[in-house]
Amino acid sequence: MEIQDSLIDLHCHSTASDGQLTPPELISRAVANQVNIIAITDHDTVAGLPMAHGYIAAQNLPIKLINGVEISTNWKNHDIHIVGLNIDPTCPELENFLSTQRELRNERAAEIGRRLEKAGVLGAYDGAKSYAGGAALSRGHYARWLADNGYAKCVGSVFKKYMSKGKTGYVPNNWQSIEKAISIIHLAGGQAVLAHPSGYKFSAKWLRRLVREFKEAGGDAIEVVLGQQSLNDRANLIALSHQNELMGSLGSDFHFPGGWLDLGKNMYQPKGVNWIWESEKWKSNIA
Ligand code: AMP
Ligand code: MN
Ligand code: MN
Ligand code: MN
Repeated sequence: MEIQDSLIDLHCHSTASDGQLTPPELISRAVANQVNIIAITDHDTVAGLPMAHGYIAAQNLPIKLINGVEISTNWKNHDIHIVGLNIDPTCPELENFLSTQRELRNERAAEIGRRLEKAGVLGAYDGAKSYAGGAALSRGHYARWLADNGYAKCVGSVFKKYMSKGKTGYVPNNWQSIEKAISIIHLAGGQAVLAHPSGYKFSAKWLRRLVREFKEAGGDAIEVVLGQQSLNDRANLIALSHQNELMGSLGSDFHFPGGWLDLGKNMYQPKGVNWIWESEKWKSNIA
């Protein structure tokens, strides 16, 4: 497959984490949207990948699936997400690391439930668990349950009211470090990408600091094109990628149909970016 002229989306979620489409449904939607190369990057799990590969092979679909994962890390008490691309999902050290992350997720989720219960929101833990359908719990599951049960008008307002820093349902994270996540991704043969850098709502100074420390920790690339962003934001991220000698990646961070984001939507490839798929590692993998 020619990488040039491909529609590429390297960040999205399935029901293996907090997405709402199963891996086959996600692949079908990507094909319908004419995406040629997709990475499924579920939170702290690679469980959705075999089913997605199996579906592509069985249906002989014209799409290339990159093995991915999105790892939650702690940087100065902020939740920072690192996407791993081209990882070997069978790497035992990776699987161990991710299984610890999922335990931390479930412990945190139980504490979120207790805090909400104290504040008079009853049944949220069981509700979130039923939404997760066996996946490790995410704040996204809680937010959907709270929105559906009338605690706020939409998932976005649930986050503002309950789930963001300082609010009733926010539990300080105890994720592992950026360095640890990057070294595990490398051990599994992958490349480490700083996810949605503008999503952390940092000041320009703190964002520069994060990107610099990510690079110093061994990071390979940063997402410069997101599903929703201003031209200014994109230019700023491209400049940060150049200043720190990081490659560029792109991804919609799609979770469910019906919102603003979609697979492949707004996945522009502006000139002047050192794209991650042009790196040596991809040549053998994509051919
Ligand atoms: P967690 O990984 O459990 O901390 O949950 C983070 C997830 O919650 C993200 O991956 C999104 O799916 C979702 N999320 C975070 N912030 C928001 C927001 N402001 N509005 C809607 N969903 C959000
Ligand atoms: Mn999510
Ligand atoms: Mn994320
Ligand atoms: Mn994501």
